[in-house]
Amino acid sequence: MSREYETVIGLEVHVELATKTKIFCGCKTEFGGAINSHTCPICTGMPGALPILNKKVVEFAMAVGLATNCDITRLCKFDRKNYFYPDNPQDYQISQLYLPICRNGKVEIEVGDVKKEIGIHEIHMEEDAGKLVHDEWEDISIVDYNRSGVPLIEIVSEPDMRSADEVIAYLEKLRHTIQYLGASDCKLNEGSMRADVNISVREVGKKEFGTRTEMKNLNSFKAITHAIEGERARQIELLEMGKDVIQETRRWDDNKESSSSMRSKEDAKDYRYFPDPDLPPVSISEEWIKKIKDSQPELREEKLVRYETEYEIPKYDAEILTETRQVAELFEETSKLCDNTKMVSNFILGEMFRLLKEKDMDGTKIPFSPEHFAKLVKMVDKGVINIVVAKEVFEVLFKEDIDPEEYVKAHDLGVISDENELSEVIDRILAENPQSVEDYKGGKGKALGFLVGQTMKAMKGKAAPQKVNELLHSKLD
Ligand SMILES: [Zn+2]
Repeated sequence: MSREYETVIGLEVHVELATKTKIFCGCKTEFGGAINSHTCPICTGMPGALPILNKKVVEFAMAVGLATNCDITRLCKFDRKNYFYPDNPQDYQISQLYLPICRNGKVEIEVGDVKKEIGIHEIHMEEDAGKLVHDEWEDISIVDYNRSGVPLIEIVSEPDMRSADEVIAYLEKLRHTIQYLGASDCKLNEGSMRADVNISVREVGKKEFGTRTEMKNLNSFKAITHAIEGERARQIELLEMGKDVIQETRRWDDNKESSSSMRSKEDAKDYRYFPDPDLPPVSISEEWIKKIKDSQPELREEKLVRYETEYEIPKYDAEILTETRQVAELFEETSKLCDNTKMVSNFILGEMFRLLKEKDMDGTKIPFSPEHFAKLVKMVDKGVINIVVAKEVFEVLFKEDIDPEEYVKAHDLGVISDENELSEVIDRILAENPQSVEDYKGGKGKALGFLVGQTMKAMKGKAAPQKVNELLHSKLD
């Protein structure tokens, strides 16, 4: 009889913080730029250069810690993690081992309809390394220190996840929370959020964990799912053959859909950590914590509840409207200005997301103002334009942020409700469609809809539908 196995997963998630300058110097954190153009003696590890801690990094780390129910360490410290690699100019990385800024947190995830708590072991602050650029043609490698010293937080979970679905739900939860806080844009594909997955298997019912491996190089949800499934199968196969799983770091290759050993997994002792003598401990007061807590925006899970109760929006729609803080803010501000939540929501869910997708945008930048958007909704409400025209105007609004009132006036898109003009067109439509007229008179109500449609078409969508209906009735009844 074959044995049943359970997958045990813990995550180490690195998040690049959205500060303007690096963690220990005044260099820009901006992505790109000529090689080594955002550098100075501190972030290139010159002898004698002294780091100075960026206060904003501490505040972002605290904000994330508070939003994930962590305890904030009142006196936290930085440590040196020693290792040699060319992208690490000091030969050590400044990180936190002994007294990380946040500990003992938890977040709630939902998979299907099942809710579950995932523990957060700790969150610590550290600096990013530089980047090696390998030139295939010249047979040389260039080291670029622009990324060296960019602030990171590392969020270490407890081994509480049991499936790829739970891992994705946990990452989504972190991403939404951190994006709402404005602490990072959390883009897996651009490297501002990176996940290392620790995974082991054990027979169902056993208490002790199996030997874990760490999977690196996972830059999409698809890669994470495949890597977890692949590694689970590989470990089970080893155990079934009576072999041991070796504790190691493995690199996932999403093209080959397989992993290979990178190096044996290190423990903290391999890095000879010791307190960084150049940086004083960070003392965090109750007032400071309170200040960060008070400035926390409404987070996504709170918005989801409020949207369902206050606006009576279905859960599925609410989830899309709150996908990014920017979309949620657009929805709320526009609704406030025009007082028609339903229509605002329809435009966002239908038209706007279609256009975002077309332009390959992700909803973190909204290219038009809530004021203009609200004007458009009001014009539909008042019957100045009909919905067909409104959708066309919305598309121009999305592309150029025009003032809908001016645009409609300039392009003569207002609804036509002039009786003489409409009457003339309707007479022509009736003459062209004798069969439909006969059907209607014979009791087929459907035929009226067809005649309305034909009239609207002839008026290029600008006729007032109610007026068309009235006139048709008066002519036919
Ligand atoms: Zn610098």
